Amino acid sequence: MVPHHFMSIKQFFVLFFLSGMKKVLVTGGTGLVGNALKIAINETSPENEWVFVGSRDADLTNEEATKALFDLVKPTHVVHLAAMVGGLFHNMNNNLDFLRKNLQINDNVLQSAYEHGCLKVISCLSTCIFPDKTTYPIDETMVHNGPPHPSNYGYSYAKRLIDVQNRAYHEKYGCIFTSVIPCNIFGPHDNYKPEVSHVIPGMINRMYKLIHENADIQEKEKMFVVYGSGKPLRQFIYSLDMARLLIWAVDCYKSIDPLILSVDEENEVTILEAAEAVAKAFDFKGKLICDTSKADGQYKKTASNRKLRSLLPNFQFTSFQDAINDSVKWFIENMKNARV
Ligand code: NAP
Ligand code: GDP
Repeated sequence: MVPHHFMSIKQFFVLFFLSGMKKVLVTGGTGLVGNALKIAINETSPENEWVFVGSRDADLTNEEATKALFDLVKPTHVVHLAAMVGGLFHNMNNNLDFLRKNLQINDNVLQSAYEHGCLKVISCLSTCIFPDKTTYPIDETMVHNGPPHPSNYGYSYAKRLIDVQNRAYHEKYGCIFTSVIPCNIFGPHDNYKPEVSHVIPGMINRMYKLIHENADIQEKEKMFVVYGSGKPLRQFIYSLDMARLLIWAVDCYKSIDPLILSVDEENEVTILEAAEAVAKAFDFKGKLICDTSKADGQYKKTASNRKLRSLLPNFQFTSFQDAINDSVKWFIENMKNARV
């Protein structure tokens, strides 16, 4: 467990009671978004106390371990990121585990937060839990409007139930338990294991290997395989932007209704365009080919960020290519300690 700012217990309580300071427990604090939060709090929110925990601190599928964690930390606020997370292929092969683990984690965290009188919990849903058959753009009112894409129904139904639980805790106890709905997130500290990862970290890892293996083959003769047709459309958000928005939500988002955290609709890209951005960051000289024998998943999940824009009109998202460049640089520099 990593308290971000060190201070004596006396200092902490004086500050806490005088300033209405928040003590924010970040579950999933060792992952992609958790690590981005550690950076972003130094930019915007140093006055609060942030406690980052991972599965080594407490297995949140276990009720007793979750309660013990809340007893120890005594948070006033929770950013609930912990989840079984993965890309299309990991979801397709493990729907039962995605369903059960995420149901268990979410139930334990929300009930513990209620029992400890937490003032706010912000949980993470995802734009990939929306109905498969829908009109576009998708907005926050459409979470429960029809079955999710069959590839990831386990993850989707577990995540949708967070919204149901949030409403029920509010109805019965008045809790402010809410959720955000990010699009596909990427950045430093991502899970880069190709068999479980999302598309961008998976492609970064595979392209690095392709460039560095078989030194006898000229790079321009090498072929990078994009899984699927390359045609599906996705919105991608840089983890640092996601973290900045979460910090704002802790302080300013008052509703229990979900809030989409996504780049604008016009910044949606095809999977092939995402592969081209990764190739550009590596200055890869070879060819990109699509393997249509592999699954495409949902064709598109275009989400509207109109509600976010109405609340935070001036937020600047990092450009997609800059964020890809940063992620590739981080991967190359940190590969030895990364999830590869
Ligand atoms: P991540 O990098 O895979 O990190 C997952 C985190 O959850 C890790 O800190 C992990 O701890 C923790 N965790 C997993 N199982 C746990 C357990 N049984 N007990 C305690 N902790 C556990 O995930 P992420 O990409 O940061 O995702 C953060 C949140 O955003 C998740 O709720 C995810 O569903 C949501 N989201 C992600 C994306 C995306 O594209 N990545 C998109 C939309 C929404 P250890 O590492 O210590 O095991
Ligand atoms: P999704 O956005 O929730 O569907 O999940 P992903 O981040 O895994 O993206 C899946 C999309 O990227 C599908 O259209 C895949 O066919 C395509 N794709 C291309 N290459 C890869 C890869 O290396 N890994 C993954 N996970 N998907 C890939």
